[in-house]
Formats: sequence, structure tokens, C-alpha cells
Amino acid sequence: MGREEVITLGILGTLDTLVILVTSSFRPVRMVQPGGHSKLKTLNSYFSSILLKIIYTNDKDHRFEICKIIFLLRHCYYQQCYQVVKYVKIDICQVIKTKDKNIMFNKLIANLLPYFPKKFVWLFSKSYIAGENTEDALRVSKELNKQGIMVTLDVLGEFIHNLDEAEDNKNQYLELIDVSEKNKIDGNYSIKPTMFGLLIDKEICYEKIREIVIKAAKYNNFVRIDMEDSQCVDMEIELFRRLQNEFPDNVGLVFQSYMKRTLDDLKKLMDIHTEKSPLNYRLCKGIYVESPEIAYKKYEVINDHFLEELEFMFRNNIYPGIATHDKPLIEDANKLIEKYNVPKEKYEFQMLYGVTPALRKSIVDKGHRMRVYVPFGKDWFGYSTRRLKENPKMANHIIKAIFYKG
Ligand SMILES: Cc1cc2nc3c(=O)[nH]c(=O)nc-3n(C[C@H](O)[C@H](O)[C@H](O)COP(=O)(O)OP(=O)(O)OC[C@H]3O[C@@H](n4cnc5c(N)ncnc54)[C@H](O)[C@@H]3O)c2cc1C
Repeated sequence: MGREEVITLGILGTLDTLVILVTSSFRPVRMVQPGGHSKLKTLNSYFSSILLKIIYTNDKDHRFEICKIIFLLRHCYYQQCYQVVKYVKIDICQVIKTKDKNIMFNKLIANLLPYFPKKFVWLFSKSYIAGENTEDALRVSKELNKQGIMVTLDVLGEFIHNLDEAEDNKNQYLELIDVSEKNKIDGNYSIKPTMFGLLIDKEICYEKIREIVIKAAKYNNFVRIDMEDSQCVDMEIELFRRLQNEFPDNVGLVFQSYMKRTLDDLKKLMDIHTEKSPLNYRLCKGIYVESPEIAYKKYEVINDHFLEELEFMFRNNIYPGIATHDKPLIEDANKLIEKYNVPKEKYEFQMLYGVTPALRKSIVDKGHRMRVYVPFGKDWFGYSTRRLKENPKMANHIIKAIFYKG
């Protein structure tokens, strides 16, 4: 092993607490209370071996990235940066309950990441987030536009604590719209109502979003209301209803196919659908952790419902944004497009920035419309670590993004 191959993850603890430390073989950290329990030893060697497998990849092309991370960790260690070289206690009752070792590892990484220095987290976040500022979002949007891809711009942030934050968020969007239109970006805007106080004061939230829609409408553009977790669904549908009534061509909503209620919601909203201004929805699987009482959990079941809802949209002349990176699902969506002979301007595919770019290109090359969701903003650290905790499956993608780019 070369000298760079020095980082190892030490895992000690009891059955309900894991103590994790990042340590370097140049200057081994003293192990405190190893516990000595045979089960723990198994866990310890299991996680270490996974991490080592990742770090000691043979793929020479990615060695540089790996060295960068190792260097960073080592640097933090020598700088006595206790954010890295400290014991991180994690309540892992939930983690070890599961039999699936992959999920176990993902949950572990997801819990660990908020304790890492921002610089380290940025190493993976930069693949998924345009940057901190509007200029970063514009740069990324221009690159995507050059490839024939539209964008939807999202200022990061959600679940605010007071209405001053809502006002700041609104102003950021108003400025963004002006700047983006001035730069002739081929794109629209996505918003999360909780950023404007949905959970504090519905009416104020509505007023703030309305101002954003007015601004977008002034440029003949469009605002998409993202769908958040289940406590928000009724309120977000209601928001959309009111706005759609006033701005039938400038506002759209998102539906999540994992929610058992989605097809019913789609049917109920048909009363505001018109031929002149067809409803415009993004259909995605859904990212939040919901209970099995209200949400489907199995991959196949979620996909079946996705296709059922997409078919409903095609049959009713609704404009769908087909938001997925799931190749088999995209192939099935294509079959529906053929079955209903849907013209290219009556639907679009959508993907997240940085995710499956090769698949994205193959869709664009076939002449389909494609829009990429471009998140940016100062809240990228909170966003990345929160997203991870909500959906630890992302850890796999993050690891892939760090170690196997492209
Ligand atoms: C444009 C867009 C907008 C969205 N808006 C919302 C919203 O408003 N509300 C909401 O709840 N959810 C939203 N989502 C998230 C969505 O619900 C899913 O969680 C996410 O898209 C992953 O599901 P998937 O359809 O790609 O299928 P999955 O079955 O999760 O993934 C299929 C394959 O895609 C690839 N993949 C998926 N995600 C990643 C990733 N992050 N990095 C690398 N590879 C990946 C992997 O190869 C994976 O095997 C949005 C997604 C997109 C694309």
C-alpha cells in the first residue's frame, strides 16, 4: 500500500451507540474503550473493509480524487480539526435494526456527514449543486442551454423559522428572475412553499409566492411548486389551485407517485383543466420518508403507479415533466409516448443537476425535451446533509459521485 492509503474508519461502541472516528495510520489515534464485544468487532471490520474497498479502488483515473480526500482528512487531522478527528456518537438503533448491510452503511454515512468539515462535504455536493451564488447558477444554466437542455432554477432552503426569512427568500427569487431573464436563460423556476412560511402562515406564504408568479408571468415565464413532505400536500395543492386560477399559464405543481393519494388528487384537479391552458405537472417518485400507511414503498409498485399517473396525464392532455433517472421507467414512459402519439412539445423529461448525465444525453439525442433542476444557494450544506438523512440511499450515489465520476 502507498503512503496515501492511510485513512481508516474506527468504529467502536455499544449496541445502541456507535462511536466513529476517522484516523490516520501516520499518527494513530488512541482507541478508547474498544468494548471488546465480538459483535462489535464484526461490525467494525465490516465497515472498515467497505471503506477500504472504496478508498483502495484500483481505478487509476480516480486516484487523484481519492488522494484529495485523503489529503484533506489528514490535513484536518494535523490541524487538530476536531470536526473530523473526534468521536461522533450516533444513535444507531435504527441503523442496526435493518438486515440490509448496504442500507446500514448508507445510514451510517448519512449520519456521519454533518460532522465533517464543509470543505469535505462540498467534494460531493459540487456534483449536485451549481454553487452558492446566482452567477454559479447562470454559468451552469448557460452550459446546459448550450447542450439544448432547459433548466429550472431552485434557490436552496426550506422549513424556515420566521417570516423575515420568507421575505428574504422571496426577494432572492425576484432578483433571480430578473437576472436570469436578462441573461436569456432558457429555463423556469422551482420553489418550495415552506421557504415562504407555509408551515407558519399559509396566507402570507401564498402572497409571497403570488408575487414571484407575477414577476415570472411578466416575462411570460413559469413557476413550479415543488411537492414537499406529506404534511404539506393538501396545502400545496390548495396553493396551486388558487394560483392556477389567476395565472393559468404560469404555474405548475409536482406529484409524487409513491403517495397513495396521487391519482385521486390528479382526478380532483381536473375541474381546473382547460384545453386552452392545460395543467402542467412534474411527476416524480418522491424523496421524503413517508409511512407505509400513506406511501408505497416497493420499487415496482411505485413505478407501476408512476406509469398509471403518467398515462392519466397523456390521456387528459396534461403537460407532464417526467422527472426520473430510472432507465427502465424512462423506457416505459417512452412506450406511453408512442402509444398516445404525444407530440414532442407536449411533454418533457426532467433530471437533477449532476445525476446520470450520460442517460440524460441519450434522451436529448433522441430529440426529447429535457429540463435539468439546478439547485444553488448559501444553504447548500444544510440541504446536502438533510437530503442525505432523509434518504440515505443517496449515500451510494454520493460515493459513486466522489469515486467514479460520470
Ligand atoms: C427534476 C426533478 C425534480 C424533483 N422534484 C421533487 C419534488 O418536488 N418533490 C419530491 O418529493 N421529489 C422530487 N424529486 C426527487 C424524486 O422524487 C426522486 O427522489 C429522485 O428523482 C430519485 O428517483 P428516480 O426516479 O431517479 O428513481 P430511483 O429508483 O431512486 O433511481 C433510479 C436510478 O437513478 C439513479 N439516481 C437516482 N438518484 C440519483 C442521485 N441523486 N445521484 C446519482 N444517481 C441517481 C441511480 O442510477 C438509480 O439507480 C425530483 C426529481 C427530479 C429529477
